[in-house]
Amino acid sequence: MPDAEALSGAYKTLLSAIEEVEPRIAQATRSELADQRSSLKLIASENYASLPVLATMGTWLSDKYAEGTVGHRFYAGCQNLDTVESVAAEHARELFGADYAYVQPHSGIDANLVAFWAILAHHVETPALAEHDVRGVNDLSEADWEALRRKFGDQRLLGMSLDAGGHLTHGFRPNVSGKMFHQRSYGTDPQTQLLDYDAVADSAREFKPLILVAGYSAYPRRVNFAKMREIADEVGAVLMVDMAHFSGLVAGKVFTGDEDPIPHAHVVTTTTHKSLRGPRGGMVLATQEYAADVDRGCPMVLGGPLGNVMAAKAVALAEARKPEFQTYASAVVDNARALAEGLMTRGATLVTGGTDNHLVLMDVANYGLTGRQAEAALLEAGIVTNRNAVPNDPNGAWYTTGVRLGTPALTSRGFTTSDMDDVAALISDVLSATSARPTKEGKPGKARYDLSDDVVQNARTTADSLLSTRPLYPGFTL
Ligand code: PLP
Repeated sequence: MPDAEALSGAYKTLLSAIEEVEPRIAQATRSELADQRSSLKLIASENYASLPVLATMGTWLSDKYAEGTVGHRFYAGCQNLDTVESVAAEHARELFGADYAYVQPHSGIDANLVAFWAILAHHVETPALAEHDVRGVNDLSEADWEALRRKFGDQRLLGMSLDAGGHLTHGFRPNVSGKMFHQRSYGTDPQTQLLDYDAVADSAREFKPLILVAGYSAYPRRVNFAKMREIADEVGAVLMVDMAHFSGLVAGKVFTGDEDPIPHAHVVTTTTHKSLRGPRGGMVLATQEYAADVDRGCPMVLGGPLGNVMAAKAVALAEARKPEFQTYASAVVDNARALAEGLMTRGATLVTGGTDNHLVLMDVANYGLTGRQAEAALLEAGIVTNRNAVPNDPNGAWYTTGVRLGTPALTSRGFTTSDMDDVAALISDVLSATSARPTKEGKPGKARYDLSDDVVQNARTTADSLLSTRPLYPGFTL
């Protein structure tokens, strides 16, 4: 950890420079730190990047255009961005043991788009286009183009359903992936709520997808990627794994063997800001076979890369290669298990009956609440979560019946398993004291709720005392 006091001085100076130009932005920046420090952050997709990672984002590396790839740019003077991109890619390859890493995607959605287009290009495109042969492109007749467009638009993707924990980018209508592909989804077993590999295989045999997507946003269990690859191979599909949520657990060697997607998937995508604890952004890792196609992410679907963010990815990946990161990743999982056990001991219902990754999906129906009411009541008490659908959710994707809780952020602050039991007690107390407020017509309400000020006050006092023993960025003041 760098000298927190010296860094505080640097940030104070920077913020006063910002203050002179737009005071509201300086104020919002200060307030955000205060908010992050004073709440129990249990959003499974969030974390706290280190101060060096944050500081790396605030530099002039942002000011350079560098469309293209390392050594092959469409702009002059990209030597420093070449260094940044190569260092980040080298760390990513070595950390994950991947043949190839593409660190340009600006977010997880962008990484998935790059991966989809790369797979489509690899399997559907004509050789003339795949070889960047501009003359070849010009030689294509209108009829060839039309045939190509039809082929691109006629491909199939099989991914995990939204209410089983899949992500919008896995072929769902509100996202472009649902418009690009004919989509079908696999769910979980109605009894156990666990992934049913035989059902996935049956679906794949019938649907014959070009792409089988594995990975999730809200599934509280590990996935066997060796089994997913067997299914993909049997039907001739490409296995794409979106490890956005759990890449920190892969980096930290908690997910190894069949649970590590890299040796099994053709293409792997991730965000860099969730359990991996880096800057907000995305990455694609691929086998050599797909490298040239992934490399065309810019200009295929991306604009110029963000030099400052690629630099911050390099710093975060260097941090993740240290032994301490493995200790962190194991603690994330131990903490999730302790949270799950603490909640279940106090009567909570958890989807799949527990967790073996970094997240817990709580079904709040037994408190008589919707996910939306539970999320809002917990927020009042200083506990930040997000509502989430549960399998076959009767309240739909807006109100939901679930609340998703994750441990990457609190583990970064140093929370232990015993702290997580205290957090579980707090959550249980707040939800037990919350009641759904009926609508004016006397029907069960889905949004409003009643919670006494006393309960809120007591919960806040307990949360404050937990937070004060595990400060965020110790020694850093603004
Ligand atoms: N993929 C998965 C599995 C995710 O959970 C998310 C975000 O929550 C994304 C992709 C998209 O990431 P981003 O918000 O960076 O675009």
